[in-house]
Amino acid sequence: MRFTFVTLFWPLMAGYFEDSILKRAIAKGLISVDSRNPRDYTKDRHRKVDDTMAGGGAGMVMMAQPLDDLLSKMKEESPDMHVIFTSPVAKPFTQADARRLASHKKHIVFVSGRYEGIDERIVELHADELFSIGDYVLTGGELPSLVMADAISRIVPGVLGNADSIESESFESMLLEAPSFTRPKSFHNLSIPSEYLKGNHSKINALKKRLALAKTKYFRPERYLKFTQRECDEKSIY
Ligand code: SAM
Repeated sequence: MRFTFVTLFWPLMAGYFEDSILKRAIAKGLISVDSRNPRDYTKDRHRKVDDTMAGGGAGMVMMAQPLDDLLSKMKEESPDMHVIFTSPVAKPFTQADARRLASHKKHIVFVSGRYEGIDERIVELHADELFSIGDYVLTGGELPSLVMADAISRIVPGVLGNADSIESESFESMLLEAPSFTRPKSFHNLSIPSEYLKGNHSKINALKKRLALAKTKYFRPERYLKFTQRECDEKSIY
């Protein structure tokens, strides 16, 4: 899996790949990362990438020409690249998107906006899809791009030491993951549920399922409702 980050601020992002799991994934050749700067494609001597808003309004907008030249050139070099724009107005990025992109794409390009965003015509011309990472506005698309690249990377086979750990994770199904514990058995007078310690895996799994249900009902009632509805529907068929 190759990730290319189109950004004015690569130094803000580079450090994320210099430690831990993603550093090891790069060393093993499972993922690769590179970056391109729209400022290298400006045509004026001040290397300007932004301009005032058409129709008036506060703030600046990223100009069409540098991004158009850059993305067109990249497309020529890598025709199969999949271009994702980051935007607070887009649909929310989910685990299902991470899984789909990890399985079906080999080269993903993330485009980070800055200022008041990117000239909309560039989105029209170059975006394969757009994602938001939540209902709030950040100063730029660098964090959203890193968030998505991280979520996609950990699904790429071999990136996580134990691939089984993904299966029971939150958002892999409608239920959130059950609570996790490690030693010591008791901490500040709080104990690990005793069933977890007895080694009977079918009982542990049954308890985990109950705890996952309780957690989902508390934190994400809409997912809990969908899950129970689906179980009801399945039972009513038979
Ligand atoms: N004026 C825009 C609006 O109100 O929709 C916000 C622009 S924001 C300050 C600048 C850039 O940050 C956006 O172009 C996008 O790349 C990125 N960005 C900000 N919040 C985001 C979010 N929640 N999800 C994804 N990208 C975001």
